[in-house]
Amino acid sequence: FNRRSANTLVSRAIAKIRVKDIKSLPVMIRESLSVYDAVVTMFTEDVGSLIVTNEDGYLAGIVSRKDLLKMAIAGGDLQKMPVGMIMTRMPNIITVTQEDTIHIAAQRLLNHQIDALPVVRTYIMPNGDERLEVIGRITKTNIARLFVELGEGGMDHT
Ligand code: ADP
Repeated sequence: FNRRSANTLVSRAIAKIRVKDIKSLPVMIRESLSVYDAVVTMFTEDVGSLIVTNEDGYLAGIVSRKDLLKMAIAGGDLQKMPVGMIMTRMPNIITVTQEDTIHIAAQRLLNHQIDALPVVRTYIMPNGDERLEVIGRITKTNIARLFVELGEGGMDHT
């Protein structure tokens, strides 16, 4: 069993798997809700980051554990501070689409040193402006789970 052909098999298998095959449901919060609400949501939903949407429901930003910890350390009234004030915001959000390969998704997670990517679809407004509709989320956990499934021969993509 030679390593080179095994590698080719693995990369061929991975090249066929798309974001839509392994994505999770997005966990979201409106940008007008408080930093306190974000902390509570992160606990109840058991996630490491929340996707933040604007009042129309489109992608506005993302807030992670460390963003929230930073605010907790700084003091201030977490119940009065809107999450939109502390999030990493558009257009600096790294995203993927359903049709992107998971190889691209994993590369983006590593290159940008982040844990989660919103899965988005572009919506063109009547006036021509573009908005991103959030349809899922990819995290390092999705990639690890896939890795385990592939290791067990459970996901047939060859
Ligand atoms: P943690 O803060 O728990 O280490 P991350 O590593 O995911 O979580 O986040 C690091 C920083 O990058 C945070 O400031 C967060 O707001 C930002 N961030 C997280 N995900 C994204 C993303 N998809 N696009 C742009 N910035 C992000």
